[in-house]
Amino acid sequence: MVDMPVHTKTTEIIDRHNQFMSINYARYPLAMVQGKGVTLEDAEGKQYLDLFAGFGGPLLGHCHEELVAAVTRQANKLWHVGNLFHTEPQTQVAEAIGRLGFGGRCFFCHSGADANEAALKLARLYGHVHPGPNGPRYRVVSTIDSFHGRSFGTMPTTGQPQVGQHFVPLPPGHVHVAFDDIVEIDRAMDEDTVAVIVEPIQGEAGVRVPSDNYLPALRQLCDERDCLLIFDEVWTGCGRTGRFFAHQHWLTNGQVPDIATLAKGIGGGLAVGVCCATPEVATLFDWHHYGHAVHATTLGGNCLSMAVAGQLLEVIERDHLINHAEALGTHAIDRLRRFARSVPAVRQVRGRGLFIGIELDAKAQGAWFGGVVDVVNRCMEQGLLINGTQGTTIRLAPALIISQDQLDQGLDLLEAIIQG
Ligand code: PLP
Repeated sequence: MVDMPVHTKTTEIIDRHNQFMSINYARYPLAMVQGKGVTLEDAEGKQYLDLFAGFGGPLLGHCHEELVAAVTRQANKLWHVGNLFHTEPQTQVAEAIGRLGFGGRCFFCHSGADANEAALKLARLYGHVHPGPNGPRYRVVSTIDSFHGRSFGTMPTTGQPQVGQHFVPLPPGHVHVAFDDIVEIDRAMDEDTVAVIVEPIQGEAGVRVPSDNYLPALRQLCDERDCLLIFDEVWTGCGRTGRFFAHQHWLTNGQVPDIATLAKGIGGGLAVGVCCATPEVATLFDWHHYGHAVHATTLGGNCLSMAVAGQLLEVIERDHLINHAEALGTHAIDRLRRFARSVPAVRQVRGRGLFIGIELDAKAQGAWFGGVVDVVNRCMEQGLLINGTQGTTIRLAPALIISQDQLDQGLDLLEAIIQG
């Protein structure tokens, strides 16, 4: 008989974790130890095909060779000097975002919440410079089920009550309206309103894609009301949906937002947030106006994370990964929609590029399987990592370097598991 070890590596790691770590996350009883491309390996040596890479962080997969080389080169050169000095890696990233996006000016920080905080502060400044009849405008309209972060500035914009409910009172001046409903948003904007913040495709809500006229109509509405249009592209940015910014699917003919924010993928797995504003709006942060900084963060734009972000953008452009995401996404969505036609448990398949939601029918679930959680767990047992959100939707967001064979291999298994 084989002697079973009393403690596996995994339980050792989890035991130590449980003693010293904050328990704010509901984690799976797995410990990941290494990754390469779209494959992850746990502490027991089991391999997984990763179709939900690090909640959007490792956009080029795990340990991409060129990112490893870039961070290593930079680590031997310069890490951080503070934003009293100019450093080239920051400028290179900002130039690339300007070229791929809408020519905005970048403020670098560390997360999606951080980037949205900067956007909301720009909106406040705009409201002071362009007041309404009641004085400085401050109200921000966002959408129900949206997610914009968990900081005190962003919790009130997030349209999911459970995110802020234990932290009341939240800062006032926020209102939520239905996503993809231009009439409601028009109604909600009053003379104190200064900005609208929207995800071009709602991510945490279950990959909800708006109608084709929604973003252009928002642009028009914000122009008419002299309000800032902020697109939160923390999930959707950096090529994931088949455009550098997802809003580029719908805003054409020189139309741009006033601000777009990025995080998750732009750092390739390192902590990078970006608030990118048109030059007119970005000038509101200009310290010359105030004689001191009105917004700053110590480690924002540090050389190490900028070296990785710069290399990541270079690889995305050189290897045409945005087109790859679009083509592969179209293939996967078409395939899943064909599958859905013959499987009553699948209600709808949504998405753009490599950002895909598969909504399961709550009524059919009981008959077929235990729902999204059950599907996610069964996939994991068989070495496939996917995500579930809102209790009904499976989300796929693989790294942009995934091949069609790898993606199809994952979808074969997922479809087999959903079919039961
Ligand atoms: N905005 C969107 C659209 C998000 O999905 C998230 C996180 O999931 C955030 C902002 C917050 O990003 P972070 O967790 O990096 O603060």
